[in-house]
Amino acid sequence: MPLASSTPSTPLLFIDLNNFAAYPTLAVAYLIRSLRLNNIPVKLLSPLSLGVPAFTRDHQENWKDQLFRRIYFSSSPVLRHLHDYLRNIHSRWQSRPHPLMLQEIHSAIAKKPPAILISAYLTQYAMCVEIAKAAQQAGIPVLLGGPFFNLEDVTKEWLKIEGITAIVGAEVDFTIADIVQTLLQKGDLGQYQGVYTPDSKAPQMAYPLKRLEQLPVPDFTDFPWDKYPHPIIPVMTGRGCSWGACTFCGDVISVNGRTFRSRGAQAVLDELKQQSKTYASKDFIFLDIKLNSDLQVWNALIDHFQDYVPGGRWIGTVHVNHQGENGLSEERLIAAYKSGLRRVSFGLETASQRLLDEMKKGTCIEECAHFIQSAHAAGISVRTSMMLGFPGETADDLSHTLSFLKQHFNALDRVRLSLFKPLPNTPFERMYRRNPEKYDKLKQFKWDYRLARGLYRYQENREKAYRKAKRELLDIVYAINRKALVDDAKQFNGMM
Ligand code: SF4
Repeated sequence: MPLASSTPSTPLLFIDLNNFAAYPTLAVAYLIRSLRLNNIPVKLLSPLSLGVPAFTRDHQENWKDQLFRRIYFSSSPVLRHLHDYLRNIHSRWQSRPHPLMLQEIHSAIAKKPPAILISAYLTQYAMCVEIAKAAQQAGIPVLLGGPFFNLEDVTKEWLKIEGITAIVGAEVDFTIADIVQTLLQKGDLGQYQGVYTPDSKAPQMAYPLKRLEQLPVPDFTDFPWDKYPHPIIPVMTGRGCSWGACTFCGDVISVNGRTFRSRGAQAVLDELKQQSKTYASKDFIFLDIKLNSDLQVWNALIDHFQDYVPGGRWIGTVHVNHQGENGLSEERLIAAYKSGLRRVSFGLETASQRLLDEMKKGTCIEECAHFIQSAHAAGISVRTSMMLGFPGETADDLSHTLSFLKQHFNALDRVRLSLFKPLPNTPFERMYRRNPEKYDKLKQFKWDYRLARGLYRYQENREKAYRKAKRELLDIVYAINRKALVDDAKQFNGMM
């Protein structure tokens, strides 16, 4: 039980370290609303409000992007050293504590907030160390939260940071006020599922949150709206993914991605109307990892978005699932465009059906082709994410992908290509543990729990045919990413 509540007179300091998006952080806005509904004052500090530029994706590429891509995907022994060197520089640059942010944090800590809440990604370890150190010197307790702190090995690693009072690896939208009260009164934080302290003896993992239809409307008032290139309101219709089986997927093992739960259509439509009025914008990004998970909600968006936000536009990510109805027929896509859908993203991963089945992607390549062309014909800009280097990938797999991209060049606006990234707690980890010999191309493999990922040196297929197909694949990705976008899609570029 939380201790009897008392209202702090000075606001808590909430530090949102997310600088990977040009719109407010939804998870933080939910927590801020919950705290305020419980009369706990809070002040938000976010990088963009201080002038720290956000990282953007999917811009119109130039030769430098292609050069970096070639180095990044190269496995030639010479380029590999350059690749490792550039990757180290890049990750150090990305994770370095930004001087502006540090300066502001130090002056905020000097004002003695009663507690500090940090929302962080796993690349922000160095910044969290700095904040925790300053807070400890000032005698201020610190709660740290983020999307992968439900993974025990990861949390153990982060609890080593001196000055962190507890780590939250749970969806605490309904309980954050109680947790903060307990923190302020130096009570037992271990009583809350998914809240871990350095001396937790038997930490209890949290169950996924239920009753999502009762979530409050997120509070974005503290975010720097004037600094975003375009005011876009984030929203989520549900958490998790109704498919949830892809062997590589990290989204469905994260704090709020585990198991699929829908908020229901009415709660979402009402929120759209309210948020559009509050923040004077008619543009929305749906952050669901699979927006067509609940077909009732998906169809309600298509059929009623314009009733709630006349003239509004929206973007989101779908899964072209092969089993059963997926809500992505030509008729639904035409209706979706009319309802304001301007950009859609989906995970193609590869165009090799053999590999898709290995990944348990649940898609059929002919249906993906049909989806791309139908969405494009309906006027919707199509973006896709793809992966190179999935274990067992052959020259033949790559040539399938290459011909697919050539065939659908006209209809694809952006392709995000990444290297296969092994993640702990995914089905891949279990498959690797059971049969490591099968993955002999992943050299020097080891888990890095601070970053929650597997590190390896990929010894790719050195066949001439493979290397040729890969080179051509990188070229066609570049050709697609150099395209100019239509105006409507431009507003939403770099958001997904
Ligand atoms: S469909 Fe997407 S979100 Fe769902 S499990 Fe697969 S990769 Fe993850």
